[in-house]
Amino acid sequence: AERLMYSEKQDYYRHILDHGREHRIGVSGQVWEEIDNGRFVVHLQPVVELESGMIVGAEALVRKVGTEGRLIAPDKFISQYEVEGVIWHVDFYVFETVCSMLNRWLKAGISLKVSVNFSRYTLIKPSLVHDLLSICERHGVSPKMLNIEVTESVSQVDRDQLAKIVDDLKSAGFFIVLDDFGTKYSNLSILSAVDFDWVKLDKSLVADIEYNIRSRMVVKETLRMCGDFNGTKLLAEGIETEGQLKLLNGYRCDYGQGFYFSKPLPIEDFEELYREGSFLPRMDSGAQPAGY
Ligand code: C2E
Ligand code: MG
Ligand code: MG
Ligand code: MG
Repeated sequence: AERLMYSEKQDYYRHILDHGREHRIGVSGQVWEEIDNGRFVVHLQPVVELESGMIVGAEALVRKVGTEGRLIAPDKFISQYEVEGVIWHVDFYVFETVCSMLNRWLKAGISLKVSVNFSRYTLIKPSLVHDLLSICERHGVSPKMLNIEVTESVSQVDRDQLAKIVDDLKSAGFFIVLDDFGTKYSNLSILSAVDFDWVKLDKSLVADIEYNIRSRMVVKETLRMCGDFNGTKLLAEGIETEGQLKLLNGYRCDYGQGFYFSKPLPIEDFEELYREGSFLPRMDSGAQPAGY
């Protein structure tokens, strides 16, 4: 079904952006009914080791299927589900879809780590760790194959609460990623309170490193700091140009994601890309970026 929805590969992103707005109002009926009716699909964007160009994992990104099979971007519906208190249904659907996929991959000899994004409203679900572990168990998947991406919220209370939840998830075996680091909703103090496995540098910082020396300095210092933490890895998101890739590689940033390598793809298309060779263009290859 995903393949049909994805008929116009090239126009994929423009498509989402152009048509998302009209669905903003009245977007959620009963979310669990929508889930049962297949109204949500999971796309995967490759996570790439920058030096080798090798795919080492993927991030799961949810889309909603609108009228006529149009895909609606998450920014258009996540916040409404958060307000309604039902976002965890969506997050759990994505989590479960990823677990069942990982089970299939295990049987096919593919071992890639996959990231899922959790709303902070999902994170405060009291039975969270227990629920996630039973989903993993049901699909025969180890928590070690899953990264959980979280974003920092604004207040101090949330920070301490987040630290506790991250600890519990880590104890259960999940890897935890701080998403969107470097935006206005994140600050340095979260890094002193929480031991993240990965930090994701927000795409707004990556966007102008070629032209803004101060952005370059911020990126370099963040890399140095993560290097000084015990084993925290830095991933740069939103890499769109060879110039950005060159700079990040020069700074020894280990991992990245972005349209330069590939847009988020339906699961089957991601699997095809991976089977085709699992190497995406590197800084010195001169090859055409994949996924376009
Ligand atoms: P995010 O987790 O920071 O995901 C990265 C976003 O950047 C994705 O947008 C991705 O498609 C986009 N992106 C990737 N490479 C590039 C690039 O080179 N340039 C640019 N300009 N953008 C790039 P998307 O898929 O629209 O998702 C937006 C946000 O929605 C995500 O940001 C995440 O916060 C949220 N989200 C996505 N899936 C889920 C989910 O299952 N649950 C929850 N709670 N939130 C989700
Ligand atoms: Mg993310
Ligand atoms: Mg992000
Ligand atoms: Mg984001």
